[in-house]
Amino acid sequence: MTAIDYDLEFLEDGRTIGLISIGMVADDGRELYAVSAEFDQAAVRRHPWLREHVWPQLPIAKNPPGVRGMDQLDLDHPDVRPRAQIARAVAAFIQAAGPDVELWANYGAYDHVALAQLWGPMIALPEGVPMFTHDIQQEARRLGLSWDDLPKQQGGEHNALADARHNQAVRRWLAERAAERQDCS
Ligand SMILES: [Mg+2]
Repeated sequence: MTAIDYDLEFLEDGRTIGLISIGMVADDGRELYAVSAEFDQAAVRRHPWLREHVWPQLPIAKNPPGVRGMDQLDLDHPDVRPRAQIARAVAAFIQAAGPDVELWANYGAYDHVALAQLWGPMIALPEGVPMFTHDIQQEARRLGLSWDDLPKQQGGEHNALADARHNQAVRRWLAERAAERQDCS
């Protein structure tokens, strides 16, 4: 089995979940990071929490001195890509992990939906992409652990790749705890 830990930053309004950025790390050492060129930048900047926590983590093209107006996403940055291109890259990334792959995320319900919608309706999920995401929170509860018991992120929160790397660290830490209990029983 190969696990892929991932995280999405997204804009959601109670009806839709719009991809902002995605980070993935695989047990085989590969990593993927991409920022959508297509999300609603103005809506993200209007959203107090996203503006404070997520926007500063993205590749931003600063206005030249003397030029007024809001900062914009740097569409020339190599991480910033059209959704269709991100969808192809993510499918290839997951498929390259082999036929026995697990997706993992933290509070991952929205992440899974936004991930799956890269390819449109549920039925369009590409071959080899799992239909569900394991949740670190569920595994922690299964082991009788709460949020405060888990390793803490050392920085980069709300950068999707930094969050995905931390998810991997937590998921592996939980697997060690589970293995210890097996040894004790
Ligand atoms: Mg995140």
